[in-house]
Amino acid sequence: MNSAEQILDNIFTVMERLYDEMRLNRDGRNNHLRVFEIFAELGRTLAGADRASFWRWDRHNHKLLTTAATDSEQIVIDEKSGLVGRAISENRTLVTNDPYNHPDFNAAVDKMTGYVTKSVLVMPVANCRGEIIGAFQVINKLDSETGFDEISDVKRLSIAAFICGMALESDIFFADSQHDKLTGLKNRFGLNDDFSTRYEKLLREGTPLAMIMCDIDFFKRVNDTFGHNAGDAILKHVAKILRDSIDKLDDAYRWGGEQRDVASNLDNRSAFPSRESSSDAYRWGGEEFILILANATIDDAKIVAERIRSTVMNSVCNFDGDALKITMSFGCSEISAALSIEDNVKIADERLYRAKQTGRNKVVADPL
Ligand code: GH3
Ligand code: MG
Ligand code: MG
Repeated sequence: MNSAEQILDNIFTVMERLYDEMRLNRDGRNNHLRVFEIFAELGRTLAGADRASFWRWDRHNHKLLTTAATDSEQIVIDEKSGLVGRAISENRTLVTNDPYNHPDFNAAVDKMTGYVTKSVLVMPVANCRGEIIGAFQVINKLDSETGFDEISDVKRLSIAAFICGMALESDIFFADSQHDKLTGLKNRFGLNDDFSTRYEKLLREGTPLAMIMCDIDFFKRVNDTFGHNAGDAILKHVAKILRDSIDKLDDAYRWGGEQRDVASNLDNRSAFPSRESSSDAYRWGGEEFILILANATIDDAKIVAERIRSTVMNSVCNFDGDALKITMSFGCSEISAALSIEDNVKIADERLYRAKQTGRNKVVADPL
């Protein structure tokens, strides 16, 4: 094959691999990670580089993260740092064939690993509105004394950079669709998706899961008395308490303990399952929230719910000079693998309803 045929064959082979991987993806994982890996590799080959990476710009946390990097674990750096930071902040392709003398090049990694960087090319990538969301980077042009060429190498890399950009934009849309803007928690779609992927898998493996459904008491009065913005502040306040309580469970998980004894592990760190099995909090709708506790029985859920109930009751949400106080009611259930997410929610919801009917600011976990 001549070199043009060879390049075309490389592209077709990559496309076929990608097509198969997307189609055969059975475990519900984010297969765009494979898109990034495959196209980082294709870009590396087409530009004749030693290394390639694709970077995501997390504007919210002011970080740059690799979604794929040949020969490297994930790297996370400050958004303003390095050649990638410069290329992104100025929205321009950046080429250097003398990196150690470039003011933006960070030589610390080379010093640590002994790798010698001779040439770098970074191309920013944008979403459909032209906003920069990431960057494609190649390092060390092989078989060349002069390094990367801004015109011919950009031309060769643009297909890989473009496809990584499309995949990243689609990941961002997907993540946005599963999150509630006000509280930052996952929303109902997020729960449905997590249920049909990771929670159903845990249930099949025999891991017990519990659900806590909770609802703010007399929330309408907050809106009516203090205004809708005060209501929004309360929702954020409650979401933070729920998030914190889940993070505490995660800590207990990370540092260990008896696997199923979630509640008592809060203060007693000892063994633990991977992050895959971690619990989560969701905004189910309006002023209703759901917590899914992994490795938890209904007794664990009751204890966790009781703690949250008292934390909420004893907390104050300061808004516009007012010290707002609220309470919440809770329904707890064990999640059944035999039921759909909707039917599981119905059980917790019926218990929450009984908590409301019998006085509010309480936890109900008993069957009818
Ligand atoms: P209960 O104790 O029985 O739950 O009474 P409640 O007043 O909390 O329940 P109700 O269902 O009567 O009212 C819920 C209110 O929640 C009505 C709705 O306007 C308000 N709400 C829903 N979503 C939001 C939101 O995003 N922001 C604000 N500020 N209010 C919201
Ligand atoms: Mg309510
Ligand atoms: Mg409600």
